[in-house]
Amino acid sequence: MGEPLQKVGSIAGHCLCGKVGITLHGVKPEVEVCQCSMCRRWGGAFYSALSGESFEISGEQHIAIYRSSEWAERAFCKDCGSNLWYRFLTTGNRSFLAGLFEAAANYPVEREIFADEAASWCKLAGDHPRLTGAEVVAEAKSEGFDFG
Ligand SMILES: [Zn+2]
Ligand SMILES: [Zn+2]
Repeated sequence: MGEPLQKVGSIAGHCLCGKVGITLHGVKPEVEVCQCSMCRRWGGAFYSALSGESFEISGEQHIAIYRSSEWAERAFCKDCGSNLWYRFLTTGNRSFLAGLFEAAANYPVEREIFADEAASWCKLAGDHPRLTGAEVVAEAKSEGFDFG
């Protein structure tokens, strides 16, 4: 979609209690929002995903990992409950909660996925792309992923 964004360098983030720290390198400075019902239950509203080329994590002993489906896991801080990341097991790709990173507060929304599942109180302003769940699944299938 459009020209590739200028990557920003490294940004640092942390959970609410500060025991888990995450540094993201080669950050893509835009946020993908997932409005699916699982993300809403997990985070209370929607999932705001930030990704980069690589990352470092500190405080691993405070992290719990929950296998949320056959194809994904979600992590959170055992001490304060802050959600940390979503990992798509098929590719190993991981995205982190944009809210952990102060520097991300003004990043634009790249797109919303599962936009048709959004709660009425989770509607975002702006004219970024909005994909329905069916469109997301079709896109994933065209890339060779099968969610069964
Ligand atoms: Zn914490
Ligand atoms: Zn979701």
